[in-house]
Amino acid sequence: MKTIGILGGTFNPIHYGHLRMAQELADDLHMDTIRFIPAANPPHKNAVAISAEHRASMVGLAIGNNPHFMLDKRELNRNGTSYTIDTLLSLRAELGNETSLTLFMGSDAFTQFNTWHRWQEILQHCHIALVQRPHTNKNQAGNPLPKILEDFLHAHYTENGEDLQSSAAGYITMRQVTALDISSTAIRAAFKQHVSTRYLMPDSVIDYIKSHQLYK
Ligand code: ATP
Ligand code: MG
Repeated sequence: MKTIGILGGTFNPIHYGHLRMAQELADDLHMDTIRFIPAANPPHKNAVAISAEHRASMVGLAIGNNPHFMLDKRELNRNGTSYTIDTLLSLRAELGNETSLTLFMGSDAFTQFNTWHRWQEILQHCHIALVQRPHTNKNQAGNPLPKILEDFLHAHYTENGEDLQSSAAGYITMRQVTALDISSTAIRAAFKQHVSTRYLMPDSVIDYIKSHQLYK
């Protein structure tokens, strides 16, 4: 079965936390391709000042030299709020039901998963691979999991990566990746304060931000 990883996010901007997590999960779970899917209008964030086109361009630059990574702009081609369930249905319509899809997610995103639009349907269309994000107040990684998600996690949990390769959807797994305490929030603040962001993100993305005068 073909195996595809999906990393959705605002990517405002993309950084090595995203890239390294995607690479390690891809290796660990033997994925053929990872699709980076920037959210056009993310439901959980106030209107994002940087356009979706800029955020997608930065993703494109960051992943450009990795043949296993691809930029998927389907959420930019839809109007309204960017819901993951719609993205999964659109991927299924394109790829069919015989492909294994795995949504990558940091622990901070998962603690709010039960607030996502039609969240209980999501696992019918993909697996979920969770990674621990280093604890900081900024990204809420320290929040405990609500009971409803605790139960959801246990009902679908597997430690065996092969389960995700041999079926199309339905499992949740947790994997260890190198802990990188990097966030877009901290990077945006650094640009504002004229503090260097080198080695937190690719130089190509830093150059793009400077030439387009983003995060001023
Ligand atoms: P912001 O600070 O603006 O929220 P962010 O750094 O959290 O940005 P997002 O685009 O919100 O980046 O994250 C997209 C996905 O990547 C989420 O599932 C998030 O948990 C995960 N992620 C982001 N940064 C890291 C990191 N350093 N390590 C592991 N996962 C990460
Ligand atoms: Mg975030």
